[in-house]
Amino acid sequence: MTPLAQLLAARIRASGPMTLADYMADCLLHPDHGYYATRDPFGAAGDFTTAPEISQMFGELVGLCLAQSWLDQGAPTPFLLAEIGPGRGTLMADMLRAVASVPGMRDAAQVHLIEASPTLRARQAATLAGHGPVVWHPTLDTLPPGPLFLIANEFFDALPIRQFQRRADGWCERQVGLPGGKLGFGLARETRYAALEDRLDDTSPGQIVETCPALSGLAAAIAGRIAAHGGAALVADYGGWRSLGDTFQAVRAHRPVDPFATPGEADLTAHVAFAPLAAAFADAGAAATGMTPQGAFLERLGIGGRAERLARGLTGAALETHLAAYRRLTHPAEMGDVFKMIACHPAGTPPPPGLDPC
Ligand code: SAH
Repeated sequence: MTPLAQLLAARIRASGPMTLADYMADCLLHPDHGYYATRDPFGAAGDFTTAPEISQMFGELVGLCLAQSWLDQGAPTPFLLAEIGPGRGTLMADMLRAVASVPGMRDAAQVHLIEASPTLRARQAATLAGHGPVVWHPTLDTLPPGPLFLIANEFFDALPIRQFQRRADGWCERQVGLPGGKLGFGLARETRYAALEDRLDDTSPGQIVETCPALSGLAAAIAGRIAAHGGAALVADYGGWRSLGDTFQAVRAHRPVDPFATPGEADLTAHVAFAPLAAAFADAGAAATGMTPQGAFLERLGIGGRAERLARGLTGAALETHLAAYRRLTHPAEMGDVFKMIACHPAGTPPPPGLDPC
């Protein structure tokens, strides 16, 4: 048993089963044993990889997409260039290089990173050394006011979820208990939930739906700032419009593992539902545009031309790696379709380029 498994089992013995969201929150961010709190999980030697770790092209094009919005909104100066959940800091480094080609933009940008993990904050500082001042925030609350241009890549999928199994007229929550003495799922008593009333129409008994309790508050906090001060947020993640089915997964060393076997030592994620994101943006007074498959988004922004340009300087294994990265980011059978983009921007302003209307 991992040290965190012992802690959680003791808590369940004392206070009863916990929601999956509470389990995920401790597994990911427990100060002493949490997965993100204690390690750098990215890359070939780590547990999983992300679009910016696959190729510099992702961050460059996201940077230029936000740059177009910045220009469309009259190039506000100064402004906040922000990332929530910045991992190794690679995406921000690539964005900063790209926006340096837009006259005035780099000088106007104040870089802010919202990161809960002290270990990853140190990693980001190392990656961004030499890129000018960076201000870190553990949450969005301390972000100063001002026009906000923000990226969130694979951030929302790391937020804790709850799961509910449909019954005839209500739902049983899937909770984490100690069936057979080991951490695992059990079902709570059937209840009706106001937040799930509309899902009784498009689900049938036995099916699972997921909710992400922190998602709407975070999305509304971002959108509220953008509605008030200008800016744009781009969210990239895997998922679909509405939650349906069990998408909770644990990954270790690039392989799916049992999410209850090694708490704190595997990455836990769930698919992101984009409808609640769009609704939170709208409720906060901003416009939502998307959702658009990542492959289509990157192609519209010119990844083909950028890939060709970068290929010209490469031969042999480096060229093959580059072409494989281009395919991995864009091809529908790889990340091109399952990853989607949605944007938030002030009502009445042009949406960031590359996205479909909502
Ligand atoms: N955007 C990066 C990393 C994605 S992994 C990339 O594309 O490579 C998720 C990131 O979100 C990690 O940096 C993790 O520490 C951070 N994170 C997870 N939960 C968080 C929270 N509640 N608040 C702030 N950051 C969080």
